[in-house]
Amino acid sequence: MHVSRTKASDLSKKIPLQTATVTVYTRHSPNCSKKKDPTWKRCKCRKYLYIYEAGKDRRVSAKTHSWEEAEALAKIELAKRDPIRMRLEEFAAAEAAKEAEEVARQARRTTTADALAEWRSRKGPTSSSTSSTQHSPWVMKPVRNA
Ligand SMILES: [Zn+2]
Repeated sequence: MHVSRTKASDLSKKIPLQTATVTVYTRHSPNCSKKKDPTWKRCKCRKYLYIYEAGKDRRVSAKTHSWEEAEALAKIELAKRDPIRMRLEEFAAAEAAKEAEEVARQARRTTTADALAEWRSRKGPTSSSTSSTQHSPWVMKPVRNA
């Protein structure tokens, strides 16, 4: 499918590259008096969406004869492709993945810490007496020098 010299492709020239665009146009019936103008809104011919994204364009039926309805659909389609929103969604997905990874890492770290504590307690009785006493002197002592 090659882009021919239609009004729809002319419309896409205004739009910067790398951005998805959705443009409403009319696919007129052969006997419509406005069949030469794809941007004509007020006839009852089928409305289509010209979707341009990632360097490719395609045309999909808006499944309506109403320009307004087609525009509403175009907005929805565009929102799906909105680069900022897409980036935010990617970011959120990345964050979620990172969080899951962090949870897994914490779990591993806990295991390591437990193993280390166990290893230490097995090695010597140095820290066994302090935690069991009610008044640990190192807790009550003020930090600042008197
Ligand atoms: Zn028409």
